[in-house]
Amino acid sequence: MMTQMHHGHKPRKRFGQHFLHDQYIIDAIINAIAPQNGELMLEIGPGLGAITQKIGKLIDALTVIEIDRDLASRLKHHSSLKGKITIFQQDALKFDFSGFSKKKNQLLRIFGNLPYNISTPLIFYLFSHISVICDMYFMLQQEVADRLLAYPGNKNYGRLSVMSQYYCRMFPVIPVPPNAFIPPPKVNSKVVRFIPIRTVQQSPQFIYDLHHITTEAFNQRRKKIRNSLGYLISSKRLIEMNISPELRAEDVSVFQYCQLAEKLAKNDQ
Ligand code: SAM
Repeated sequence: MMTQMHHGHKPRKRFGQHFLHDQYIIDAIINAIAPQNGELMLEIGPGLGAITQKIGKLIDALTVIEIDRDLASRLKHHSSLKGKITIFQQDALKFDFSGFSKKKNQLLRIFGNLPYNISTPLIFYLFSHISVICDMYFMLQQEVADRLLAYPGNKNYGRLSVMSQYYCRMFPVIPVPPNAFIPPPKVNSKVVRFIPIRTVQQSPQFIYDLHHITTEAFNQRRKKIRNSLGYLISSKRLIEMNISPELRAEDVSVFQYCQLAEKLAKNDQ
């Protein structure tokens, strides 16, 4: 099927381009973000500016990161955004979010209708800059949103849930059907709000161990943890920590995974 032109632009599949055109959804996203003058607003993947233009009407300055050179150039010459917008034409996965925040001496408010092919790596990359982030609002594939928001015992609860809930509290904002976009994606979407949890900064070793232990546990999610994690931590130690060795990966809470990672990080298993 021929790809439909949208505002004179042919959507590029390799950049995950699905442009929002439903004004009700766009307004709901902007109401949830509630941008204020003076805040450091940063959009990832502004595309043809469906969200950007409306935000530009509310505040004096905003920054965007857009990988597509043609779209970045269109935004640069956009009449209502002129003088307000700073454009980084580059890959968001390589953007120095911490450096940018430090330079501006402000926390970042990040939002975007993310290209689905990079949403999970981008979220993990943003977690590595979490100390400079005030909040985030992302349009995600429904399946990814369900995994982020899942609690223990739910079939969607997995490594992504544990890692994300360690860094952030997350809230669903609005479900979005395929026909809100041009071209429509094959899947449903959901906007999710991320509020970083300001805890004591953990060591890189702890983060590594949290990744490690959740990967090991969920790679064998139907196994009891005494088997899947047995080579990392003994049943005796699990019992001492009040964690039953009979639990399966999907029944272990985020707090318990953090306890386990702490033990590993301290080499106390
Ligand atoms: N925000 C627009 C909207 O809602 O209509 C466009 C959303 S579209 C799903 C994703 C946008 O992200 C596109 O403009 C695409 O070019 C851009 N993009 C894709 N990969 C990117 C990357 N690695 N870094 C920055 N922008 C990217």
